[in-house]
Amino acid sequence: MYDVIIIGAGTAGLTSAIYCLRAGKTVLVIEEKMYGGQIINTPTIENYPGLKRISGYEFALNLYEQAKDLGMKYVNEKVESIEKLKDKKKVITDKNEYESYAIVIATGVKNRELGLERERELIGKGISYCATCDGAFFKNKDVAVIGGGNTALEDALFLSGYCNKVYVIHRRDDFRGDEASENKLREKENVEIIFNSIVEYIIADELVKGIRILNRLNGDETEIPVSGIFIAVGQIPYNEVFKDIVELDEDGYIVAGEDCKTSEAGIFVAGDCRTKQIRQLATAAGDGAVAALAACSFI
Ligand code: NAP
Repeated sequence: MYDVIIIGAGTAGLTSAIYCLRAGKTVLVIEEKMYGGQIINTPTIENYPGLKRISGYEFALNLYEQAKDLGMKYVNEKVESIEKLKDKKKVITDKNEYESYAIVIATGVKNRELGLERERELIGKGISYCATCDGAFFKNKDVAVIGGGNTALEDALFLSGYCNKVYVIHRRDDFRGDEASENKLREKENVEIIFNSIVEYIIADELVKGIRILNRLNGDETEIPVSGIFIAVGQIPYNEVFKDIVELDEDGYIVAGEDCKTSEAGIFVAGDCRTKQIRQLATAAGDGAVAALAACSFI
């Protein structure tokens, strides 16, 4: 039995843990994978207040150690459901059952797939969703980045430092990401931006050999030889297992405002997995604090 169970050990979840522990609560954090969440894949963070420059890994490790030193109990398990009991909640994982008075859900988001034939099978054989993790494998090779948001722009910038040529393929003629990143990208001589185009087909044998793209304006099809395809078309939340206990929006995000309260009393939500406009490290940490204090106040 714990005061608060936190599901997810990314920035939002670990910040929640730190706040709950400092408020004298007992805390269990349940994480399916490794602690740290998405930020662990970021080579350098330069937009977190008070930290001029830090790697994503070091940031995540600091957060984890900070919570551990305060007395966080941490398990690597997969949450399968939450049940309502009289004045508490039960969290059922693939290995155990735990009870608490309050819950903070901080499960983050996962990468959206394009849904192309052989996309999953070719992961690690040319398909990647993480330029900072896999970029070095494509040194001096030609690659394509798919997407038009900040992730695609930053991935393309990062890859332009390693690769011979980087094609950025976006389905519209206007990027969704920051103008500053777009401007930097446009200055790179080894980057070619292809607008109004979608990837129709992955050309591959055992490994990726190229892509066939379709121009949505004139219907032209073009084959581009590349060894790597970096897919950066946004994220989707991990909230399927919570759909019977808290309200989700049509895209699967947990419905909550800035107070981080869900539709179920005693269940709070923090970070990228909730309905919100801005999904940043600083806003995840902010949510973590708000959700934790709301949970403590509920108890
Ligand atoms: P995003 O902003 O949702 O952008 C996804 C991009 O993929 C959009 O350009 C979208 O096209 C395109 N797309 C979506 N589905 C597609 C499909 N099926 N086929 C082809 N293209 C598709 O996602 P994100 O870039 O991962 O960023 C997520 C959030 O994190 C954003 O809020 C972003 O600002 C933030 N972020 C911040 C930083 C930073 O501050 N350093 C870095 C990375 C991410 P449309 O534009 O046509 O919809």
